[in-house]
Amino acid sequence: MKQILVIAEMLDGVIQPATWEITAAAAKIKKLKESGQIKIIIPSDDPLPIAKETAKQTGMDVIGLKSNDLKDYDSDVYKQCLFKLVKTIDPSHILTAHTSQGRDFAPGLAISFNAASIACVNEIKKDDKGLLYSRSVLGNTKNMIVRPAEGIPVVLTLMPGVFQPDNFNNQKKGRVEICEIAFDPDCSNTRRIRHEKILQKSCENKTLKGAKIIVSAGRGIGKKENLDAIFKFAQCFSSSAVGVSRPLVDMGWIGYEHQVGITGAAVSPRLYIACGISGSSQHLAGMKDARFVVSINNNPDAPIFRHSDLCIVEDIDPFLQAFLKVVQTK
Ligand SMILES: Cc1cc2nc3c(=O)[nH]c(=O)nc-3n(C[C@H](O)[C@H](O)[C@H](O)COP(=O)(O)OP(=O)(O)OC[C@H]3O[C@@H](n4cnc5c(N)ncnc54)[C@H](O)[C@@H]3O)c2cc1C
Repeated sequence: MKQILVIAEMLDGVIQPATWEITAAAAKIKKLKESGQIKIIIPSDDPLPIAKETAKQTGMDVIGLKSNDLKDYDSDVYKQCLFKLVKTIDPSHILTAHTSQGRDFAPGLAISFNAASIACVNEIKKDDKGLLYSRSVLGNTKNMIVRPAEGIPVVLTLMPGVFQPDNFNNQKKGRVEICEIAFDPDCSNTRRIRHEKILQKSCENKTLKGAKIIVSAGRGIGKKENLDAIFKFAQCFSSSAVGVSRPLVDMGWIGYEHQVGITGAAVSPRLYIACGISGSSQHLAGMKDARFVVSINNNPDAPIFRHSDLCIVEDIDPFLQAFLKVVQTK
């Protein structure tokens, strides 16, 4: 029976939550194929304790991929060690998260053993010819349906926040295997540059994390200068902070420490006010634990409204001006 491999997302020796979403996608592939055995691979310099815990928690078989060079993420080390492991297994699928790590090593890994590489997968379906994958393209504005060539392995990177993690209500414990693989720097093409250390950007925004009310701005605010009104809006509430969607950080309007989402902060305020934010799965992943969500968007069909308790269909600029005027006159 061919295997479906899940490469766990690791950071500072800890499994990241995206791993459970990939595991859910692997379970879906297994169900659609009506065959396959899922194995979770944990790349680490010391995988045994995490592997044991994962096998207990998920009931799935786990392979601890052990190498001293796997302490921190390094694309060359990942590609080479995973390739050495994978060629002994001959899997049908290798799944990883579409994060900075997954996007970095997955295509190279796929090339190393002539597999199909499909990035940004947000849905998996089946027709009479086999499995089909939907992937986000053109800056997440469109989906493309792809079918890999028959009989070749497939390496997938899965969009975070799309596949619902399982709650693993299982009784049995998976098997644990440790595979020690040495990294050979002489076999690496790009090894002339050594990754000395991964420096975490200051994603731990203490203000965002502890805030009871978060006012978040998205691309709908139109221009950088309009952030002033967002800050004034936030100041109307005590224990509040300003969050943003990723495009505002990418455009250099505000620092990364304000970004909410799968590649930013995960927040759980009592009140989350989304201003001009569409509601992409990557943004929702960061604010899904907010207790009450208010959204202001001029598009009545904006996806964020499906995740909001109060939906205000309004242009953000006049809304903020009117709100601030009322507050200032009190
Ligand atoms: C690997 C990966 C990781 C990502 N991580 C994150 C992440 O951590 N966080 C994140 O936020 N995104 C992330 N993204 C980006 C994400 O896919 C979306 O592109 C992003 O969230 C969209 O931001 P937005 O809602 O501000 O912009 P848009 O999608 O452009 O939405 C703007 C919204 O504003 C509304 N609007 C326009 N004008 C007005 C107006 N005058 N008044 C009121 N409303 C108005 C529009 O109707 C629209 O709904 C990631 C993407 C990838 C590929």
